[in-house]
Amino acid sequence: MVKEHVKLLIIGSGPAGYTAAIYAARAELKPLMYAGLQPGGQLTETTEVENYPGYPKGIQGPEMMMEFKEQAERFGTEVRDGLATEAFLNETPKRFIIEDKAEITADSVIISTGASAKWLGLESEERLKSGGVSACAVCDGFFYRGQNVVVVGAGDSACEEAMYLAKLCKSVTMLVRRDEFRASKIMANRTIATENITVLYNTETVEVLGKQVVEGVRVKNNQTGEEFTLEATGFFVAIGHKPNTDIFKGQLNMDDVGYLDVIPGTTKTNIEGVYAAGDCADKDYRQAVTAAGTGCMAALDAERWLADKGIH
Ligand code: NDP
Repeated sequence: MVKEHVKLLIIGSGPAGYTAAIYAARAELKPLMYAGLQPGGQLTETTEVENYPGYPKGIQGPEMMMEFKEQAERFGTEVRDGLATEAFLNETPKRFIIEDKAEITADSVIISTGASAKWLGLESEERLKSGGVSACAVCDGFFYRGQNVVVVGAGDSACEEAMYLAKLCKSVTMLVRRDEFRASKIMANRTIATENITVLYNTETVEVLGKQVVEGVRVKNNQTGEEFTLEATGFFVAIGHKPNTDIFKGQLNMDDVGYLDVIPGTTKTNIEGVYAAGDCADKDYRQAVTAAGTGCMAALDAERWLADKGIH
């Protein structure tokens, strides 16, 4: 197993990690990045990105992440494949195990491990991910203007997504698996009151229909067993996200779901020299551009801390 020491280790390779890498590399911190399970992060699962400033004609998510990577490498970031499987943040220096490949010690660390959208786990859902199945209305809703879409879920996120889509789409059908919402009363009431949203209670997805693109959704009432087909071209899954922070449990402060706590207005965690950026610490915004913004903040926070400690 390779053993190595670096000044700054960046874990995760979405917009937050790469932006942190660009800033840190330009500050000559010689960052080392481990790209994680899904190099490029969640954007590699989307198709067209139209809301990232600087790309007036839009860009494909995977291509955009290649450009982020290229920019980070241009200034000297070393990007490696590998997943951090163990973390010892209370040691000095901080220590990480990268699968069975490497043991890395680092003076400072930026955690940008992201969050993963939860999916239903259906074969048809997986197959149609680049053809109308999405976990982000803000990212993809625009493509379904004037069309009929389905939203799965009954929490605040699902209500928010449904209301966002209702402004763009002809109709939104919400599939709620129980006979009530989990969302706050105010969000649920607003959703129900929206004219072009229809809520189907006790209803679950059997299959997303379509070969290349979504053409409909086969659903089932779980009380009566009755199955029927909804016409739809978009299928939005909003059943929650899981931040990828399991290896930091017991070391870093986090909420019940696993989102890392940072001191508001900074990226500082409860451990000196450890910073969190992007979706792993953000349950509210979850956008590429906000992740990039906090990635920049994390690099600046790390740079200042290293300078204060006299680590050059
Ligand atoms: P939640 O965990 O609150 O809700 C998940 C929803 O998905 C539940 O209704 C759940 O159903 C449903 N669900 C889970 N698995 C399945 C499945 N396999 N099939 C069908 N439905 C399923 O997640 P959210 O992302 O909505 O919210 C996370 C947190 O963020 C919450 O604390 C929320 O309040 C907060 N938030 C706040 C917002 C705001 O205030 N503006 C906006 C967005 C989020 P069931 O109820 O039956 O378990």
